[in-house]
Amino acid sequence: MAKSRFEYVKQFELEDILLPRCWIVIRLDGKGFTRFSEKHSFKKPNDDRALLLMNRCAVEVLREFQDIRIAFGESDEYSFVFSKTSTLYGRRSSKLVSLVTSCFTANYVRWWPEYLPSQPLQSTPVFDGRAVCYPSDEILRDYLSWRQADTHINNQYNTCFWALVHSGKSHTEAQERLKGTLTEHKNELLFSEFGISYTKLPAMYRKGSVVIWSQELKTVKHTEDGTPVQRKVCEPLVCHDDIIGEKFWLSHQEILKC
Ligand code: ATP
Ligand code: ATP
Ligand code: MG
Ligand code: MG
Ligand code: MG
Ligand code: MG
Repeated sequence: MAKSRFEYVKQFELEDILLPRCWIVIRLDGKGFTRFSEKHSFKKPNDDRALLLMNRCAVEVLREFQDIRIAFGESDEYSFVFSKTSTLYGRRSSKLVSLVTSCFTANYVRWWPEYLPSQPLQSTPVFDGRAVCYPSDEILRDYLSWRQADTHINNQYNTCFWALVHSGKSHTEAQERLKGTLTEHKNELLFSEFGISYTKLPAMYRKGSVVIWSQELKTVKHTEDGTPVQRKVCEPLVCHDDIIGEKFWLSHQEILKC
């Protein structure tokens, strides 16, 4: 195609290629979801419908971008890990961040009515996104451990906070009561005052959600005499496993393989 005299403006676009041979993590997070969750009457501290909607969006993102090896989500955030060797969109940061974030956001709106049928959308949900490169498997695992440890810390605090609030305390009183308390004290408080055993709460609240690929046998068609033809297909699978310890990684060695 002939070039116009305006073509030179292209030179102002900067290169933003992510480092080669590094794990690429794209993390997105809901903008102003403290307010958004109140406005849409999310159950506190954990609204299952909203968490399951987040998981559905993550599954759709994996279906769209098969270079993703694992994803981890909690609250209004999700992290997607692209393979070290991925060459998708030439590893251009702005392409990957904007495509993953808009794919997730569009699915959030698309599937909202299925997950929160009694709650009309009152405002437009939006998510921010960023890309970070991690140069080794060890640091990538530490990244994922950091997010899962954060899930635990936040959930434990929020479970105590909302138990106090639901029992009649004001937000300020609940905050004061929890100031400086240690993990053991929080579990003790939950049990002695509210009869809640922290470890018996659903794993999705305590551990967050992990999305990986699972191989399944699927019937793709039937032959003329009605015999089912099965094929191995990869489908995203949501679980709530511990990803800090070794066990998960020993039983899913394919995730970190090149
Ligand atoms: P920012 O725009 O800076 O991210 P934010 O208000 O979204 O601001 P976050 O730290 O991301 O701040 O916190 C997310 C908020 O959304 C928390 O208040 C959390 O309780 C709420 N939230 C997210 N998911 C759920 C859910 N499933 N159930 C109840 N509350 C939720
Ligand atoms: P890429 O993912 O690389 O952007 P693309 O198929 O989106 O691939 P574009 O160069 O962005 O490629 O072209 C957009 C395409 O969408 C064109 O084929 C254009 O004709 C079509 N398109 C967009 N908007 C309209 C519209 N309003 N009416 C008809 N066709 C449209
Ligand atoms: Mg944020
Ligand atoms: Mg947020
Ligand atoms: Mg958040
Ligand atoms: Mg296009």
